[in-house]
Amino acid sequence: MAVLYRKYRPQTFAQVLSQKPVVQTLQNQVKSGQPAHAYLFTGSRGVGKTSIARILAKAVNCQNNRQGDACGTCEVCRQIEAGSFIDLVEIDAASNTGVDNIREIIEHVRFSPSSGKFKIFIIDEVHMLSKGAFNALLKTLEEPPAHAIFILATTEIAKVPATIISRTQRFDFKALSQEDIFYHLKQICQTEQIQIGSDVLELIAQNAEGSVRDSLSLLGKVATLGDNPIMEECQQLLGVTDIAVCEELLHLVVNKEAGQVPDFFARQSERGADYAVLNRDFLEYLRKVLIYKATGGRADFVLQAQRLESLASLAAGLEMPELILIIRLFLKAYKDLAGASDPQLPLLLAALEAIYRKTGPGAALAAKAAVGQAVKKNEILTSQKVGEPPVAAAAVPAAEELEISLAEARELFPEIIEEVRKQNGPLASVLRSSQLVVTEPGRLIVAVKFAFNKQNLENPKNASLINAVIEKVSGKRFALSARLAVLDKEPGPGVLDPLAQALKVFGGELVE
Ligand SMILES: [Zn+2]
Repeated sequence: MAVLYRKYRPQTFAQVLSQKPVVQTLQNQVKSGQPAHAYLFTGSRGVGKTSIARILAKAVNCQNNRQGDACGTCEVCRQIEAGSFIDLVEIDAASNTGVDNIREIIEHVRFSPSSGKFKIFIIDEVHMLSKGAFNALLKTLEEPPAHAIFILATTEIAKVPATIISRTQRFDFKALSQEDIFYHLKQICQTEQIQIGSDVLELIAQNAEGSVRDSLSLLGKVATLGDNPIMEECQQLLGVTDIAVCEELLHLVVNKEAGQVPDFFARQSERGADYAVLNRDFLEYLRKVLIYKATGGRADFVLQAQRLESLASLAAGLEMPELILIIRLFLKAYKDLAGASDPQLPLLLAALEAIYRKTGPGAALAAKAAVGQAVKKNEILTSQKVGEPPVAAAAVPAAEELEISLAEARELFPEIIEEVRKQNGPLASVLRSSQLVVTEPGRLIVAVKFAFNKQNLENPKNASLINAVIEKVSGKRFALSARLAVLDKEPGPGVLDPLAQALKVFGGELVE
């Protein structure tokens, strides 16, 4: 739907969303009455190159010239908006590549403007011109008449000859941030009185690839679904993945839930997922996690608070080398997709390979927990027999003291998290990133990686919420406490070795 894009195309410098440095410089030049004779606007599509070129054409010819900006109301401004201004020549080089087209322009250049101060030539996609056409253009750019202004625009600066670039004043247009786009869309929805949820706008902003034009065309599509469209419908319409799906997949990887992975993919297939899209969008999600982690919590993206909380907790569950490994695995899956007979397979493989990654505290924590559980299950393996037991195993009390076994508690844990989520989403995220390691009479102990997670779980308000939920779900009174997981080393070799090997054979999960 090009309608929204045309309707909300900026008509003056003041209305331009972004590209502030470019706009400021151009406006100052117009204000001082000394515009350059040749400009080169470079940047990806939909970032405002032609819009700004047209505003510049207006501003230099505007009858009211307000502080170097176009007024938008005078005869000239209105004619340019309507496309009927005789001194503005626009050429799309993509369809006029030949030398003849350029010669025609050059003929025009010699004549003085008929109604404005300047004759403006906008050549879009200038990199498409033939060699002959570039040469002809170069001659004109070398000695442009005082009344002519050339504005060349390109998405591929590398294909523009250096001789042309050196004759122009170059402006690099930036891709718009997801945040810019999100707020722009929000504003338009308000003006248009379209009811679309923030989660859907976020989805659009994520998928617009920095282009306002793309974002508005996606918005136009979504608007056809009527007010308050459902997220799933929007995803299907736009062919994109909900961030919650990416969150879930990474959650499985971080928590090494290999057994859940096939189910996850089965559900994706059921809802008709395009695996190339899922893979691409998952990589984009991983990129966000990477940026977040690398910058210590800064983000170049817009996410709702709850989403950001989940991302933060997933990021906290991974060491940087693990994260890099996971990204590499999914990049490879993306490459492998093209030649795969089953499009699900490369992703499934990548997910499992990521789960069985060798290093990192996540692995140690999971191993420790699994071992603790195994010790509990196999009462033959008493601490006397195994000698020096690992920390988690030592903390498991004798079976008769337990009012709830670790296995039972772990089975209830997802339900507990889900109940907590209904009342406090961020708190549930913290729980989700933790690992239930030990049960003691009256106590469930989870391991967390960071002190702030521990504080969060143990602050009185949160603790009483969690404890109430535990009671509701298990029918027993347990207090949850958190322990900082000091993951000094992985469980050592010795008696535990056969068990670890068995774990490997049985897919890393202990079968009850
Ligand atoms: Zn005007």
